[in-house]
Amino acid sequence: MERKPLVAANWKLNGSRELCEQYATDLDPSSKVDCWVFPTALHVALLVGHLREANSEIKVGVQNIFTEVNGAYTGEISANLAQEIGATSVIVGHSERRTHFGESSENVASKTQQALDAGLAPIVCVGERREERESGKATNVVEQQLKALENQCSQEVWESATIAYEPVWAIGTGVTASPGQAQEMHAYIRHLVNTWRNGLSSSIRILYGGSVNPSNAGELLQEPDIDGFLVGGASLDVSSFGSILEQAELVNNT
Ligand code: PEP
Repeated sequence: MERKPLVAANWKLNGSRELCEQYATDLDPSSKVDCWVFPTALHVALLVGHLREANSEIKVGVQNIFTEVNGAYTGEISANLAQEIGATSVIVGHSERRTHFGESSENVASKTQQALDAGLAPIVCVGERREERESGKATNVVEQQLKALENQCSQEVWESATIAYEPVWAIGTGVTASPGQAQEMHAYIRHLVNTWRNGLSSSIRILYGGSVNPSNAGELLQEPDIDGFLVGGASLDVSSFGSILEQAELVNNT
């Protein structure tokens, strides 16, 4: 089955009014690729407005949601509120949230279900730490992270979710997984999905994330199970991100 490439930008705790404008004016992805942008929650409405004005196909998402819909949870945002202001997707389980905010895989699975229930498409991040790879546990770790999803989430979640394989040792380090290392894990993830949710493994998109830039994107995209990217640092420069986007467009020859 043909899977349309998806290139997603994770601005993390970065971005500005200017970057929101640049994404609307300087990027014009074709229908051969999906492009989703994850600014800070403060920038979502602004970016949505600029993109609508520019008639852009780029979609906006949030970097995190809380497990509850509303209530006395000062400082949190929910999937429903994000959806109301124009977000269409959400990143869950990013390693920075697992590390700095103590999110467990069970917590990530709850958020993933919450996202789906509110109509947001989840990008679920998984990935091992350096020491886990070095001790041969990389596939075990990724399997455990995904197993929580398998235990807690509905079939519809699997139908709408995207998985992002992001080895922690490659995020923001300038060290990218080799195309072979990434392909091996992507194929393993697809195999797990096939085991758990027969029928979905050929349609689910699996993104790679970890120091992707315009120079290494093309090579990674040659791998059969890499369906696009989650891009951090390089997404803060609109021309670098645009170049990655263009390379993904070339992969889809339909
Ligand atoms: C990320 O934060 O999801 C990421 C992949 O970051 P970077 O591209 O900077 O490694």
